[in-house]
Amino acid sequence: MEKYEAAGLPSIPGIRPQFEETLDPDDWTAVRALSHQIIDDAVDYLRDVRSRPVWRAMPEEVKASFEQALPRSGASVESIYHELAGNLLPFPLGNVHPRFWSWYMGASNFTGALGDFLAAIQGSNLGGGNHAAALMDQQVVNWCKEMTGFPVSASGTLVSGGSMANLIGLTVARNAKAGIDVREHGVAAIERPLCFYGSDQMHSCHRKAMEALGMGNRALRRIPTDAELRIDLVALRVAIAEDRAAGFQPACVIATAGTVNTGAIDDLMALADLAAEENLWLHVDGCIGALVAIAPDNAYRVAGIARADSIAVDPHKWLHAPFEVGCALVRDAAAHRGAFAVTPEYLEPTPRGIASAPWLYEYGLQTSRGFRALKVWMALKEHGVEKFGRLIDQNIAQGHYLSGLIESEPLLELVAPTNINIVCFRYHPKGIAEEALKALNIEIMLRLQEAGIAALSDTTVHGAHCLRVAICNYRTRRDDLDLLVKEIIQLGHQVLSASRSA
Ligand SMILES: *Cc1c(COP(=O)(O)O)cnc(C)c1O
Repeated sequence: MEKYEAAGLPSIPGIRPQFEETLDPDDWTAVRALSHQIIDDAVDYLRDVRSRPVWRAMPEEVKASFEQALPRSGASVESIYHELAGNLLPFPLGNVHPRFWSWYMGASNFTGALGDFLAAIQGSNLGGGNHAAALMDQQVVNWCKEMTGFPVSASGTLVSGGSMANLIGLTVARNAKAGIDVREHGVAAIERPLCFYGSDQMHSCHRKAMEALGMGNRALRRIPTDAELRIDLVALRVAIAEDRAAGFQPACVIATAGTVNTGAIDDLMALADLAAEENLWLHVDGCIGALVAIAPDNAYRVAGIARADSIAVDPHKWLHAPFEVGCALVRDAAAHRGAFAVTPEYLEPTPRGIASAPWLYEYGLQTSRGFRALKVWMALKEHGVEKFGRLIDQNIAQGHYLSGLIESEPLLELVAPTNINIVCFRYHPKGIAEEALKALNIEIMLRLQEAGIAALSDTTVHGAHCLRVAICNYRTRRDDLDLLVKEIIQLGHQVLSASRSA
């Protein structure tokens, strides 16, 4: 009230004078100083990443700090940042560290982080519209087409990651092959039930997609793999013929370019021929391997990828974009738009102005969309695609280097052939039964994590449990892999002798 009167504003009878509130700070100068501090700390955080543990367990008081009640009133950004410096930043998942090789993810990058920051500062909604960020979104999609050799006439959309990119591809495949207007009538109206095919090594997101698309898990046929963990083409042909004979409608082959387990790449040329002969949609799950197409020494491994009807690309893996960003590419742009476009009246385009450009939300399930393109665009501009290609070659060479170390170490055993950057192996001293071997390897893996030395994961390949190193990391050096082998031998010895003396 006092503040109001001091501002000399007229009072309106019956209306309680009041200042409007805002989220903007009272003092932009203080914000500037704190922001500079945050940037300085962030630079140090990344510069010193190698000197920190890959991961560490959170103390109880840190865990408890995330149980505070909903704040009812505010606090200074300084105090909030101080809190994060104590309970958030020291406890990462670990994937920015040079010795993080679990599952399969990228290592993020500083320029990409600036991109995310600037995207949030501009704050644009990429649902579409006539503005610069929308053009950049389309440009990054076009760059993804170029990197995989897809034609410019194809369409595409940036999504949250590989799982969503696969869902988009499989949705268009289902609609294109249904033989009816499945959007209008639903899957129940499809005359002969659709079957999709992938190898027994395909990613779990395809199952989720089949379930969400109403086709069900059983309609996703798992085809056995050969010794190299690639889809067995003979078994695939047999399954297709049997399904046709039984009244099903074979609709789509999901090829995997880079399996999660071992990095196996299905024979894309042969699958493209088969899909053409059998009139099937060819979707390539290229979350790991599509970008091998930009790596000069290894591009031959994904020959044929550009013959796909749709491809899932995952820039937060081998382009190391900060989470999240995936990209779905569809050769038939009309089929892509036809699978998703709905234009309610409140979103009708206008002849001029903000709504005069095509809506980007017509190519997927989201309406509001984040500005994911900027982080990818900035890092590609900074380094150029050739450097990203060389880094992919470097990771693949490191995978083969590690598998050489394993082969020359009698206590270690390769469990699957190393194809690209994923190495499956186990610690295997003589005379230990399978079950005990599994427990021993899991113990080694957990001790490596808990000591903050390295992060690996584990899996089972053709029935054998193993440790798994996936090198999708531009900070990894060969001496990190030397250290890993040394530590595993030491830990294995420790665990074994402790269990023998117990
Ligand atoms: C990572 C991955 C996915 C899922 O991608 P997200 O980005 O994690 O959603 C799908 N398929 C394969 C082969 C993958 O490696």
